[in-house]
Amino acid sequence: MEDRGGIPHYRVAILGAGFSGLGMGINLKRSGESDFIVFDKEAGVGGTWWVNDYPGCACDVESHLYSFSFELNPEWSRLYARQQEIQRYLEACVEKYGLGPHLRLETEIASMVWEEAERQWRLTDGHGSQTTADVVVSGIGGLSAPYYPDIPGLASFQGRCFHSQQWDHDYPLEGKRVAVIGTGASAIQFVPQIQRKVERLDLYQRTPPWIVPKPDRRISEREQERFRRYPMVQKALRAAIYCMLEGRVFGFALHPKLMEYPKRVALRHLERQVPDPDMRRKLTPDYSFGCKRVLISNDFYPALSKPNVHLLTDGIREIRPHGVVDGNGVEREVDAIILGTGFRAADPIPIGMVRGRHGEDLAERWQDGPEAYKGTTVAGFPNLFLLMGPNTGLGHSSVVYMIESQIRYVMDALNKMRRHGLRTVEVRSRMQQAFNDRVQGRLGGTVWNAGGCRSWYLHPVSGRNVTLWPGFTWQFRRRTRRFDLRAYDTERVSDPVREEGAAGASTNTVS
Ligand code: NAP
Repeated sequence: MEDRGGIPHYRVAILGAGFSGLGMGINLKRSGESDFIVFDKEAGVGGTWWVNDYPGCACDVESHLYSFSFELNPEWSRLYARQQEIQRYLEACVEKYGLGPHLRLETEIASMVWEEAERQWRLTDGHGSQTTADVVVSGIGGLSAPYYPDIPGLASFQGRCFHSQQWDHDYPLEGKRVAVIGTGASAIQFVPQIQRKVERLDLYQRTPPWIVPKPDRRISEREQERFRRYPMVQKALRAAIYCMLEGRVFGFALHPKLMEYPKRVALRHLERQVPDPDMRRKLTPDYSFGCKRVLISNDFYPALSKPNVHLLTDGIREIRPHGVVDGNGVEREVDAIILGTGFRAADPIPIGMVRGRHGEDLAERWQDGPEAYKGTTVAGFPNLFLLMGPNTGLGHSSVVYMIESQIRYVMDALNKMRRHGLRTVEVRSRMQQAFNDRVQGRLGGTVWNAGGCRSWYLHPVSGRNVTLWPGFTWQFRRRTRRFDLRAYDTERVSDPVREEGAAGASTNTVS
């Protein structure tokens, strides 16, 4: 850290202390770099695994794969670890790699502006304190801003109302009449947990999800001991899970007809778990298997058959001070409403947060949907790297694999900047354009785009799929193996500062 006129300056500022931000920090640390800082708005580390602590929260990707490749954890207690265990795992990573002194928790970066003359980013936090940095790595994730539905009257509700990501643990649900809106990945995890407590649960379903059985189980102490003593066994298991999940790409992206088999598995699961044919009909999706995220659960369907649960599928007309009015005009009084309505995945960065060259706002640039080069860099926004940026999400495997691929790319960028004496790297617009044309071309025939559903994968305005990587994850890793300086305009330390409005005027190319 350097003091620049009373303002702390770092080589790298990282936003977010989840898998992305911590992974980046650990890699910097392991490479001998200590001139960096990690900001997070929360009071603890974990990112999504810190904030999402609703009852039943767990990961739906096997933990042996959903973890850092350099930090395998032989102690996982289940195949699909629960939120607390994943959060503790990340805390242990912070401890082991000595990241503590680099963390600035409870510090939300409200805005960051590229300063042309100094060739640096100026970050301002929610309290007005400033920091500058040569490079910013954003690890704020695509699923961090809750989506509040635009239902008439929602603000007039007089009972308790909260989003699944901001669970109100101080509100006792025992004996309450509760409306749950949404039946996505979060809701299907908390509905079975709260069903046992509440007096009545009205579940408002707009679109039924495809659900398959969850092959979860405890991992015995003997197995853990084996993983501890023979790390190769755990690595082999991780590799096997990786290959199994990659196999899904054939169905999702290449030959959608292959989805027939898992679709039958899901239908059989529904038939076994829901005896009532009328309820089964309501729960049967009418779009292709895989179009929305496929969910895994053994306890969601059984919970719906309990006498205190009402599955309501006629829509929501409005919300009144004491109840929810369905599409038929029937009002049901409730004490609380829980929104399981997901996240603003398609517009992850708010207007006014990131301003690049010539004061251009990133959110305004992205009005028709986010777009980046290799999901990581954006023309006009030098020295900014986005982890889990546009089109790096997955519908089939572990995003930690994608995050690690991007971290490798950023690490190589930082090394090359140092080696070549570069002050800035900025991806060229035409490289970004060509990359995205290819990505969008490949997404066209996938089940995510052509499966006949509306999902958070697609941008609400343009309809473009701005969230998912269209193929195998190893293809993404191959593309991000090295930082391809040829795709970038660069400025050397000694170059004169660019004139406003003269983008590209003094850029060099180093290869
Ligand atoms: P989601 O999958 O986007 O589900 C949101 C639900 O709310 C959907 O059922 C949606 O219905 C409904 N909804 C939204 N607006 C509505 C409205 N105005 N009226 C009625 N219903 C409305 O959100 P999520 O369940 O929070 O999950 C989001 C993503 O987070 C997941 O896909 C996953 O990637 C991640 N996640 C992962 C895990 C995990 O285990 N790894 C757990 C939780 C979440 P429609 O389907 O009709 O839009």
